Formats: sequence, structure tokens, C-alpha cells
Amino acid sequence: MNRIYQLSPGRVCHRAFLPLLLTVFMVAALDSNAARHERLIDSWKPMHYDIALTFNDQLTEVTNARAEITVTTLKDRVSLIDLDFGQMTVDSVAVNKTAAPFEHISEGLRVHMVQPVAIGARLVIVVLYHGRPKDGLILTKDKDGRPAAIGDNWPNRVHDWIPCFDHPSAKATVSFSITAPARDLVVANGSLDRVRTVSDSRRTWTYTERAPIPPYCMVVGVGEFGKIEATPVGGTSLWYYVPPSNSKSAVKGFAPAGPSLKLFSEMVAAYPYEKLALIVGATRFGGMENSSAIVFPGNIFDASSDAPSSAVFDMRLATVATVAHEIAHQWFGDSVTEATWSDLWLSEGFATYFAGLFIQRYEGEEAFQKYLRQAAESYLQYERQNRTPLFDTQTEDLYKLLNPNNYEKGAWVLHMLQSIVGRDAFLRGIRTYYRTHKDSTATSEDLRLAMEQASGMNLRQFFNSWIYGTGHPLYELTWHWDHVEGALTLQLDQLQPEAAFPNWLPINVLTPAGKRSFVFKPQSKNTIEKMPLREAPTSIQVDPENTVLKEVTVKSR
Ligand SMILES: [Zn+2]
Repeated sequence: MNRIYQLSPGRVCHRAFLPLLLTVFMVAALDSNAARHERLIDSWKPMHYDIALTFNDQLTEVTNARAEITVTTLKDRVSLIDLDFGQMTVDSVAVNKTAAPFEHISEGLRVHMVQPVAIGARLVIVVLYHGRPKDGLILTKDKDGRPAAIGDNWPNRVHDWIPCFDHPSAKATVSFSITAPARDLVVANGSLDRVRTVSDSRRTWTYTERAPIPPYCMVVGVGEFGKIEATPVGGTSLWYYVPPSNSKSAVKGFAPAGPSLKLFSEMVAAYPYEKLALIVGATRFGGMENSSAIVFPGNIFDASSDAPSSAVFDMRLATVATVAHEIAHQWFGDSVTEATWSDLWLSEGFATYFAGLFIQRYEGEEAFQKYLRQAAESYLQYERQNRTPLFDTQTEDLYKLLNPNNYEKGAWVLHMLQSIVGRDAFLRGIRTYYRTHKDSTATSEDLRLAMEQASGMNLRQFFNSWIYGTGHPLYELTWHWDHVEGALTLQLDQLQPEAAFPNWLPINVLTPAGKRSFVFKPQSKNTIEKMPLREAPTSIQVDPENTVLKEVTVKSR
């Protein structure tokens, strides 16, 4: 997802002062629902959710809900299926069509088996319930003041309206049957199978998502949307569902969507889902990447006079980045899902970097370099307060994982990997990684293995420094030209408290006679290079193509 995107002059901004304040406010305003719980799939796993919801006329309540959850047991003698569930009222629970004893506890629904169940059994649990969800399914008004209901689940709020296994790794297929007022349109994950008129005033919409998706990506949207069909991309239909007053701005504002779909399909693999719907509605994020049904907030198209504009699309550059970011998530985050919260950068860092690659392709190299520099600045500023590894096992509040570690540093790790292994091997590695973990989960180690396989390089030290370690290289380059000897001595020191970073560091030495380029290959925190040079250098450039996330000072002696 996108943290709240705001702009400061001259940047595609993730985190200027304003967004920082907003983020702090957002975190403070939330309840403690997002406490980290690295729930392991051990005794049972969900396979499919079939969810039927009936809304009242003003969409202020779910009058009837039915969740049919198909699960498989992974152990012998399973006596309990412990679903995550919020505070909606449970009317009954059945297992394989027989009423089952249950306890509705805080944040959970414990379904007891009448007899212990053997390993490999398939159980169908049916929960009937109703009420107004406390969170997750947001019953609200759209920006035109009309009733609307929109799912907004990240990180673990889907269990406020669907009894489920609420952890990203517990992926499952899902179908929705939504009965809503006849005036409304309904959108959800997957393909629209049918719309049935059930009375003069109600219709039931059935959607099926056939690919397993993480629970936080399971979504429905109900409301008086304006529905716009955009040009399909390579067989994938593209729809916009927006408040009617946004219809015009959506056509313009979502213009980067088609090109994003096309670029990522070419770079990575075919688009993984049945269709893509872009929805404007209630989300607390700058964008939420629900599989095949992305939700953007109501202010997504608002202009800002001092914001940098796109060179290609008629909008803010930040909006281009946001749209591309959420679409990149369809591959990274949705189709290949982080196995644990510690691997979140495999979702957010990838979406941030691939949005950058979209900018590189459409807005040009200069805009891409600026995007990278701003990402580096955001990260370095954050790191001064938070020295946490990218693979973060400590942070307890999941919202605090939406930080420049997972976004900007994650993107930079991918950029550095591309610089190290080369563009071709990088894309081969990305494709292997994607193909291997599509519709499943991945860890940071899975990425290392795919990149090593593609490049033939050993990347263990790189991952140890950048993924499992903290900090960044703090280079100090000291140069000395000896006119008698006709030689230049360069000393590269790494001043950070952590061990030496293994990155190679390109250097340009400029003299009146021209440019000399070479690459430092540090083996330790202090490396000295000496080269013959007959003319005094006029300047020394460190990492001219910006391939390493670093801080650097250059001095002569
Ligand atoms: Zn994201």
C-alpha cells in the first residue's frame, strides 16, 4: 500500500514533514488492533472462503452474513479451529453441516470439533453472523455523500468482518455474494460471475477470485459508483469505480494504470488476476493494493499547485508513482506474498522500486534518479532515529512497519542488486523469484537464492549487510596527488559502526586531460588504491551513477 503520499516541492514524496505528521496522527488515531502476531500455520489452513453479505438499504449494517470456510487439517487429532474474528454477532456455527460448539472470544472464534479430526481432512465451517463491523469493512459515505461500503483490511483487520486466518501467509481463494440495494454497484476481487435480481429493490452480485490471495487483500466495494471501462491491456479488462463526481478526473488520473499493467506484464510475468478494478473510496492509506480491486482515497486526484508534475501524464508525479506502486503490488505482495511481517519489504520495497522503474521508462532517467535520491534521503533521515534491520523482527505495531526501511531502503536494495548483477540477470532473477512463488509466499532468503541462481554470484554478504544488518556505508574518501611521483593515492574508509559493506564503489577522477574511471572493491573498512596520474585531478566523483545507498565525504590531503 501507499503510505499517505503528499508532496513537497521538487519531490515524489513519501515522507516530508507533512506526511510524517499525518502518519503519526494516523498511528495515534488507531486502536491497538494491529499488534504484531506472527501467526503460524500449523494445525489447519484455510483453502477457500465463500462469503455472502446482505446490506441494509443505507449500507449502515450487514443484516445477514454467511461465511463458508473450507479448511484442511495439517495435524492429527485436531480438536479446534481457531478463527480470527471481531465483534459482529455470531448466530450459529456448523462443521460439515452439523452444529458445532464455539466460543466467541476477543478477536477470535474458537470452533470445537465434536470429535478430533485426522490429518488431511477437509472441513467446511459455516458461520452465520450479522451486525456492523467495527473495522475492516468501512460503512461510510462516498465523497458525494452517498452510502458506501468498502473493505480496507491491512494489516489484519479483515477478521473484523470475515472469520478467517488473518495472517498474510494464510492465502486462500475467495468468492463473494453481495446483496445490495438495486441502485448500487458492487465490485470485489476476481471475476464477476453473475448479477441476480432478488427483488425490486435488491440485487446479488457474485464474484470469484480463483487465485489464492492474502486475507488483507480480500475486498468488496458497494456504492453508487460511476463505472468506467478503460482500454483493456493484453486481455486484462480495466475498470474504474469512482464516485460519479470523480468520473472525469478518473479517466485522466488513472491514465498511468494501463501503461503500468503493460510494463510490469512485460518485465515480470502475465498479470496474475482476472481483471483490474481501480476504486475510489474509503481507505486510510494513500492506496491499498487489494488483489484485482485496488482502492485509492478520495483525494487521489486533487491537484496541488506546488507539486511536481508528470512529464507525460497530466497530473502530479506523485499520483503517477502511487498508481504504479499499487499496480506493482499485484505481482509483489498480492501474488507473491511476504511469508512473515519481517519480509514486508518484499511487498513494499518491490512496489516502491517497480514504481521507480515505471518512472524511469515513462518519465525518463533524470526523474528516476531524482526518485532514487529522494528515497535515499527519506531513508537516511529515518535511520538517524531508527537503527533497525530491514528484516525487522522487533517492531510490535504493524503500522510502524510502514516505514522508510520497508519502502525506500527496500527499493534501494533492489536497485543495488540490479547494479551488482546487471540488468539482465536482475530481471531473470526477478522472474524466477516470481514464477517460483506465484500464488504463494516468499522469504528474503527465497529472493537471495533466485538472484544467486540468475547471476551465479554469492550474495550472502550483501544480504547479511543490507537485509539482516543495520545501517549504510559512511564513506570517507581521502585523495592525495604526488606531483613528483606522478601518482594519485585514494584511501576509502568506512566510518559506520557496522562491519564493512561489500558494495563495489565506482570512482571518476577528472583531470584536464580527461576522465579516469575505476572501481573500489573494498575487502575491509579501509582500502587504499594507487594509480599513476601525471596531471593533478580537478575533481573526484564517487559513485557517479548513484548505485549505492550511502553517505560520502571527499577530502584531499
Ligand atoms: Zn505499497
